[in-house]
This record gives sequence, C-alpha cells and structure tokens, in this order.
Amino acid sequence: MDYTRPSSSVRRRMQRTRGHDNPFERAVRSRVYAKGIRYRIHYPIPGMKRFTCDLAVPGLKIAVFLDGCFWHGCTMHPPSVKKNRVFWLEKIARNQARDIGVRGHLEKIGWTTLRFWEHEPV
Ligand SMILES: [Zn+2]
Repeated sequence: MDYTRPSSSVRRRMQRTRGHDNPFERAVRSRVYAKGIRYRIHYPIPGMKRFTCDLAVPGLKIAVFLDGCFWHGCTMHPPSVKKNRVFWLEKIARNQARDIGVRGHLEKIGWTTLRFWEHEPV
C-alpha cells in the first residue's frame, strides 16, 4: 500500500468536491463544443498581457488553466526535491501567488476561469 498517494476513491471525491470539473461545467463545455466554438491557446490575459492562460474562449470570457502538479503546487503531489529545496519551494510559492493574482484579475473583469490539474484524467 502506497500511503503517499490517495486511493482512487479519495481522489475521485477530492476531484468532485473541488468543483473544477463538475457535471455543470462538463455540460457547458460540451454545449460550447457542439456550437462549434473554437478556443485559442496561450491566450494573453486581457489587462495582464505578460501572462497567458492555456486555453481561452474569448467570446465567452472563459479562461482555462491546465496546471502542472509541480509548478503550481498541487497539494496531492507535493514536490520531492532535495537539491535547492528552498529555491524550488519559493519558486512554486511565487507561481501560486501569481495564479491567485491572475485569476482574481480575470474574475474582476468578468471572466470565468477553469483550472485543471495535470493529474486529472482527460
Ligand atoms: Zn497533482
């Protein structure tokens, strides 16, 4: 038994309760898809052009973030770094602060942000 990883049932529960990929969002996405709406990749954040989101549907003001567990500080998969540990932890903390800033900005300008973790099944 590997106690460092949550069981699949725990994982499913965490994914459900986190609310990033609930049935409503899936329904919205499939409706968007059915309407033939195309997304843009690496789309510059309006008003924060130094940053991009991974996918965007600008007409619907939807920004999608597909976050790597290491870089964005996934709590289910804490980084296992031995060399330069402080450096990496500080870097990840800066990434997380930036993520919060970018998403807060998008919310203020009326965008919907969707975030998906690397470990989530596609
Ligand atoms: Zn993860």
